[in-house]
Amino acid sequence: MRKIKLFILVLLTSIFNQTLNAQEYFLKKYKPFDPDIPSPEEFLGYPVGSHHTRYDRIVAYFNKLAEISSKASITQYGQTFEFRPLIILTVSSPQNMTNLEQIRDRHLQFIDPSVKEPDSEDLPVFINLGYGVHGNEPSSAEAAMLTAYTLIASQNSQIQNQLESAVMFIDPTINPDGRDRHTWWANMYKADPLVADPLDVEHNEVWPRGRTNHYWFDLNRDWYLAINPESRGKLEWYHKWYPNVVTDFHEMGSSSTYFFEPMKDNGSLHPIMPEANYTTLNDTFARYYKEGLDSIGSLYFTKEVFDGTYPGYGSSYPDLQGGLALLFEQASSRGHVQKKDDGSTLTFAFTIRNQFVSSMATITAGVENKALLYNYQKDFFKSAISNASKSQVKAYVFGDRYDKNRTLAFIDKLLLHKIEVYKLSEGITISGRKFDPEFGFVIPTEQAQYRMVQSIFETYSDFRDSVFYDASAWSLANFYNMPFEEISGSFKKGDMVTEMTSLFERKEVDRSDYAYIISWDDYNAPAFLYYLQDNGVLASSTFKSFTISTSRDQAKQFDLGSLLIPVKGQTIPEDSLFNLVKSGTEKFAVEVHTATSGYSLSGVDLGSGNIMKLKKPEILMLIGEGISSYEAGEVWHLLDTRMQMPVTKVQIRQFDRIEFHKYNVMVMVSGGYGQLDSIKQQKIKSWVSQGNTLITIRNASEWIIKQKLVSEILIEEKKDTIVKQLPYITARENIGKERIGGAIFSVELDLTHPLCFGYQEGEIPVYRNSTVWIKPSKNPYSTVAKYTEDPLIDGFITDKNMNDNLKKSASLIVSKMGGGRVIMFVDNPNFRGSWYGTNRLFLNGIFLGQKIRVPE
Ligand SMILES: [Zn+2]
Repeated sequence: MRKIKLFILVLLTSIFNQTLNAQEYFLKKYKPFDPDIPSPEEFLGYPVGSHHTRYDRIVAYFNKLAEISSKASITQYGQTFEFRPLIILTVSSPQNMTNLEQIRDRHLQFIDPSVKEPDSEDLPVFINLGYGVHGNEPSSAEAAMLTAYTLIASQNSQIQNQLESAVMFIDPTINPDGRDRHTWWANMYKADPLVADPLDVEHNEVWPRGRTNHYWFDLNRDWYLAINPESRGKLEWYHKWYPNVVTDFHEMGSSSTYFFEPMKDNGSLHPIMPEANYTTLNDTFARYYKEGLDSIGSLYFTKEVFDGTYPGYGSSYPDLQGGLALLFEQASSRGHVQKKDDGSTLTFAFTIRNQFVSSMATITAGVENKALLYNYQKDFFKSAISNASKSQVKAYVFGDRYDKNRTLAFIDKLLLHKIEVYKLSEGITISGRKFDPEFGFVIPTEQAQYRMVQSIFETYSDFRDSVFYDASAWSLANFYNMPFEEISGSFKKGDMVTEMTSLFERKEVDRSDYAYIISWDDYNAPAFLYYLQDNGVLASSTFKSFTISTSRDQAKQFDLGSLLIPVKGQTIPEDSLFNLVKSGTEKFAVEVHTATSGYSLSGVDLGSGNIMKLKKPEILMLIGEGISSYEAGEVWHLLDTRMQMPVTKVQIRQFDRIEFHKYNVMVMVSGGYGQLDSIKQQKIKSWVSQGNTLITIRNASEWIIKQKLVSEILIEEKKDTIVKQLPYITARENIGKERIGGAIFSVELDLTHPLCFGYQEGEIPVYRNSTVWIKPSKNPYSTVAKYTEDPLIDGFITDKNMNDNLKKSASLIVSKMGGGRVIMFVDNPNFRGSWYGTNRLFLNGIFLGQKIRVPE
């Protein structure tokens, strides 16, 4: 008994010491602390850095702080796919907290270019401390708790003063779903004593790892694209508060040290960013990080890497909103402690301390440079107006006559970015393209969000740098394949668009006792089709067009792909069919036409063999180690959230368990596929040959050609026969510029091909971020999309890649495999969930691929 007591005492003492040391290690500088406020250690029951904190515990701690302190309040700005709340803890002096709405009103005057001289005297600066956008970069969320505790509990006079002069918005974890995947992993494999060997399982997460969100999206690309609830909630919050400073904390390779801005010289030269952002402001703030990190002896580097040109990072979007966004990168301990290449060890606590020091330095820098930041913010929005007035482009007109839901999805993004959009009040024709008030909209350039308007419509082909950290093209109008034109003269505008539900008229379905017809042009048409199929409705697709009388039109033309749903011959009663068609049209906002006769005015009749019954797709996708989780996630997200159809995701290690007869479509996204030996390859081949459809994307298309499973040909890289000697130091630059980080090119579609049904224009933009080059097929009917004569729309490509590769290659090919077919995408049609313009090619593969017969 005594022994046990002694043991408990020793254990408690050791925990206590550890706690005490942890407090000292992080917080010494900010003593004394208010004893009534629990420290993270007291609340969690373990010292910060000794364990990975579950997200619900972080939320609980923040709730506790908000509950007991008059210096803090908590806001929920959204919810993740896995139902985790997205929160922000607002921290300031008790007086500021009571006057927050008034302070916000004054702050927002700096956003409004029409306010002549807003006054920043006694106005607190707004600092948004954002943490943990990448779930397996866990140090910053732990630092968020230390920061919140310090601000609320420290009785140090410097902190007291800072609370008077600033409002802090602490977002402890931008990506909670990803964080918990990693937290679970690191804690599950944590040993006692800790294992520092980098090869230990604790340091090597399983696929798909914790970086991304539920659908495996990188949220640090999504601020601009706004596809996921995490970013959508954040944008709503952001445009309510417009912080002056925003942090974005990350982790990088374990062998590195620490990075803070400025970024590399050339990379930061943004085409539309005020120079003061990446010179004056960055340099000013850098002095504070230098001081903070020097004081604890941490090594760091700046200026050598990263660029902030792509507007969708947490460290770039706020720059386009009059704020200063700051990137931090900490060498990762990925786990609790890890041995580095040089023999030293990196502890989780050490990584947390660097992030904490940078957090506190950001607050000091923000407070001490408040006037500079407010002036910058004011000038930013005023210069938006003056820049626009100098531009030749006075407005953009846009809209798709045939596809209302794709137009709505585009408008949704514009509104999230607070861009002013107006209805067209009268028809307008520019460069031969006519926009009618029925579907057209106009965006004046002279508005506070002019720089976002530029980001969405302008394209660039001249760059000061050629190596990109990510994409070199982001013109969103091209992502959506949205018809648009520039207006350089005067224009008229109708009502401002403030919400989307009533933008387009919704038409009821007329009941038919003969047939219903649905055009294939609308983005939601495939979702509607699946809904009908899944409810037992037999539907056919039109492979030759026709014009027919409907209940509303004397003569209505139906293009390729139009869906025919005959009333007779279904397995469900006519009443049920009508109810399904009716509920479908409400659910997907797609118009349904009613035919009373099968006899066409022109083209094929409704009983024609060119109108073919479709089988419901049963889809399988290979996932797992070696396969791109991003691309797989994009497919999963598209089918789940937009098409509302299931896809069976099979781990490649369980390939042998697949009962292939249950599926008729298989998707293979980019990946190594080395695990598929010749026996497994034959299994796939024999299944496809039985009439099924295999869809490959990017590197999977390259793989299937290399395995000689299809008879297409890759373009081999031209090797120079004479090797020119080059300076060693230029190697990275020279090699880097040959990879295509992401650029937009135009392709020519074969509009008669089933994969192109639903497209009205023969040229569309595609997104390329690979150097997979496939020759156009020898079969004259196989090449569905080929690059145009002058294909560059937006972004960077070297002349060599353009002339030797791109111009000579195809973007989309369908190859015969026995009685089935392989649909090979070279360019990812589902990129970042945002390529509404090319999604249809992929969905056509899923729904209509079954009917493609490639002639010999
Ligand atoms: Zn990161």
